[in-house]
Amino acid sequence: MTQTDEVVITEVCPRDGFQSLPEFIGTEEKLNIINGLIGCGFKQMEVSSFVHPKAIPQLKDAEEVFNKMKKNNNVSLRALVPNLKGLERAINSNVDKVKLMLSATDSHSLSNANCRTIEGLENFKPILNRALNSSVKITGSISVAFGCPYEGKVSLDRLLFICEKYGELGVKEISLADTAGMANPVLTKKVIRELTRRFNDFKFTLHLHNTRGMAFANAVAAYEQGVREFDSSAGGLGGCPYSPNASGNISSEDLVHGFEEMGINTGISLNKLIEVSKYIESKFSQHTDSFILKAGTNSDLHLSPRGQNKIGNRY
Ligand code: ZN
Repeated sequence: MTQTDEVVITEVCPRDGFQSLPEFIGTEEKLNIINGLIGCGFKQMEVSSFVHPKAIPQLKDAEEVFNKMKKNNNVSLRALVPNLKGLERAINSNVDKVKLMLSATDSHSLSNANCRTIEGLENFKPILNRALNSSVKITGSISVAFGCPYEGKVSLDRLLFICEKYGELGVKEISLADTAGMANPVLTKKVIRELTRRFNDFKFTLHLHNTRGMAFANAVAAYEQGVREFDSSAGGLGGCPYSPNASGNISSEDLVHGFEEMGINTGISLNKLIEVSKYIESKFSQHTDSFILKAGTNSDLHLSPRGQNKIGNRY
C-alpha cells in the first residue's frame, strides 16, 4: 500500500450507476457521459459488466461502449466479469482490469450468484487460468464485507478466510464493498487494520455506499488506515439495492470535494466533474444523490444579507 497522500478514485457510474436504472440507457447517451467523465481526470473507470445480456439488459452494449468510448492511456478501464465467457468478451474489448464478484456471506452469494461463497471462489479458477495467458489484470472483491442485509454482522474471521482463499488463487488486490451501507468508521478501521496486518502484500480498495450517511466518514477512516483507492459514482447514481428510496454509491463529487478540502490530492477536476454530474442529475434526477450538487462547494461563497462580503475580518 502506498503511503503518499494522493488517492485514486475509480469512477463507477457507467457500470454501477447505469446498471441500477430501471430502463436501458442508449449507447450514445452512455458514451456522452463516459467521455465527459474521462475528461475529468479519473485514473480508473469501471465501464461496464460482461454479464449475460438477459441477466443485466442495462449493460447489454458493453462491447460497443468499450469499442466507441474515448480512450486515454492515463485511464485504466475496468469491467466486471462473472465467468469465463465474460472474461473472453472483456479480453476482446481490450479491458485493462477485470473485477471478480464475490459475497462475504452465503445468503448474499446465493441470492446474487446462485452459489455459496466457497463455490464462488472455486468458480474463479478457470477465469484466473485464462487471465494468466492475457494482459488483463485481476481484482477480487468482497460484497457486503461490512455487514449483510440478510445475515447482519460479518465476522472478521470470515473476511480473513476469504482473503486467504483469494491469496491461494493468486489474487492480491481486493475491493471491499459496503454494499448495504452498514459500515462505520470504527469497524472500517478495524477491518482494514486486521486485513492489512495479516495480508501485508495485498492491496485493499474500498467501494462505499452512503445508505446511512456514513460513507465519507468511512473513507477517511480507511484513508487513515492506509487505503488509497476508492470507488464512487458521479451524481451518486446507483440506488441502494435493498431499500428503493435510500442512497447508494457515494457521489464522486462528494468524495473528491471532501478529500481535496482535507489537502489530499485526487487529480480530478472538481469543476468539470460537477458539470458532468449536473448533466447526469438533469437526466436521471430520481436516481442521483449528492451533497455537493445540492449545496455547492465550500468555495461557492454567497453574498451576505448585508452585502458586505469583503470588509475583512479585524482580528
Ligand atoms: Zn456500488
